[in-house]
Amino acid sequence: MLLSIKHVRKSFGDLEVLKDVHMDIEKGDVVVILGPSGSGKTTFLRCLNFLEKADAGEMDFAGMHIDLSHPSTKDITAVRKKTAFVFQGYNLFANKTVLENVTLGLTTGRGMKKADAEAIARDALQRVGMAERMDYYPSQLSGGQQQRVGIARAMAVKPDVILFDEPTSALDPELVGEVLKVMRDLAKAGTTMIVVTHEMKFARDVATHVIFMDGGVIVEEGTSEDIFEHPKEERTKKFLHRVL
Ligand code: ADP
Repeated sequence: MLLSIKHVRKSFGDLEVLKDVHMDIEKGDVVVILGPSGSGKTTFLRCLNFLEKADAGEMDFAGMHIDLSHPSTKDITAVRKKTAFVFQGYNLFANKTVLENVTLGLTTGRGMKKADAEAIARDALQRVGMAERMDYYPSQLSGGQQQRVGIARAMAVKPDVILFDEPTSALDPELVGEVLKVMRDLAKAGTTMIVVTHEMKFARDVATHVIFMDGGVIVEEGTSEDIFEHPKEERTKKFLHRVL
């Protein structure tokens, strides 16, 4: 098992957002987390790499055992080194070029030499079809192009897992396809991914494991076929009926 996480709890004030959530991931898995808005999907993803601190929970990851409610600085650094996050709003530096945006995580984040970092960044940008735009600034790019740069930045650090938080939901509909294609290519290449998304066709085609969350709990999980063709729980059926 590459990553195992269990008993995750998180509240914001009186609002209990995660109530004992778990997940097991093998290398090469594409785990898709589905569920209605407000069900805790993003919070769960953010707890995985300490963008949010869970109130309780344990994580086993690459030989480490971590208490999610009391992570040491060393744990946090180690997990962040082995994961990369793709944000809904891209989060690129506006005053840096595409190439600099991708290189920065390698030089500043990993202490790599600039020339080596640039070679890796160019390769990652090539893979997402952005090689021609390396000297552009984010404001000169479409949302779909910016998100592809966001994905190249995540790939470049060669993480064990890439976490995607609704990567296409800020995009105009006609730009969604180009980003999903890059994600499909990544999955095909064996990248381990955890994806929070509302893109049902992507989930159905690409997920090796689907988790359906509602109200802070995992209501049902299984293969894409289990969830999409043979859902067992009434809440899963209702949700799928609404979105498909
Ligand atoms: P989802 O990703 O499934 O839409 P979220 O994890 O974003 O759900 O949110 C779950 C619930 O937690 C929502 O009710 C949301 O308003 C609340 N929430 C999320 N982040 C915060 C925060 N930083 N402070 C207070 N409430 C939050």
